[in-house]
Amino acid sequence: MRTEVKIDFDGACLMGDPHSLMRAVGCGPDVVEVFGPVLKRLPICVTLDDSDARLPRLLELFKQHGVEWSEYRRDRYTDDEIQAARLIVMDASDLMSGIFAGPRVGTQYDMSEACKLCGAGARQTSAMVVDGERLQVLEGKRATTTWYNDILVEEKLAGALAESGATGLSFRGVFAAFEKRGHFQLPWRQLCATHTLPPMSPRSTGTKLSQPCPCGRSCFGTFWEVPPRLAYRASDLADARDVNVTWEWFGSVNFNGDVYDSVLAYPWFLVTPKVWRIFRDAGVTGFDWLPIRIEDG
Ligand SMILES: [Zn+2]
Repeated sequence: MRTEVKIDFDGACLMGDPHSLMRAVGCGPDVVEVFGPVLKRLPICVTLDDSDARLPRLLELFKQHGVEWSEYRRDRYTDDEIQAARLIVMDASDLMSGIFAGPRVGTQYDMSEACKLCGAGARQTSAMVVDGERLQVLEGKRATTTWYNDILVEEKLAGALAESGATGLSFRGVFAAFEKRGHFQLPWRQLCATHTLPPMSPRSTGTKLSQPCPCGRSCFGTFWEVPPRLAYRASDLADARDVNVTWEWFGSVNFNGDVYDSVLAYPWFLVTPKVWRIFRDAGVTGFDWLPIRIEDG
């Protein structure tokens, strides 16, 4: 495993030619992406290994020039490391590049066992309804997510998952909702987990409980600058299936008791290498695959 860091900054804030200043600290086109200029800004992203000797030199350059920057760190694993994992977090790289869906679009939920304050534990009772005005998001993809981490797979990939004998999964239909024309079924399926894992180990790192609900289940989040690393006790995984969801719910919540006017948090999906291989062989992109750490006991 290696940790990758993406540094974002405004190259226009450097005093001098950004390209030669960057080259002077060893950062050439192999690690530098320039997105601009945009008006008076020159957005630049530098991608380096966290242990790369160029990183401290680059940050020193920023300090000398009074440049502000942001750091985004995520772990990257080799296929062999993922293959050897007990469970793998299926982390959507960018939920907002998925499709808008959920309670506000017409998907139905049973809230009888959900937390009355945050809605964690909401149980979906209908097909997944997605925003029909944004279907272009699905084009050319074999799997994606909704903005709320529901996992959608096109029907052939759903078939491969169903035929694989993987445990702990079920499927629901996916419908597009149009303002005036009602609902139409899409050649996609929602991948659902039948098993919720016990709470993760408190020794998990890179997750935070920024606005804790008294139920303790939401709302977990992640940091930009710290990679999330989930840990579980070995004994808590005895019942794990090939597809599971976390007990914890992530993301922000806006819930006032009316589920159809709410933003709900969501659990993360944890899968086995068997399921990962099916996604990999289908050429699916857009997910970071993050093996969990296992503790004794
Ligand atoms: Zn709650």
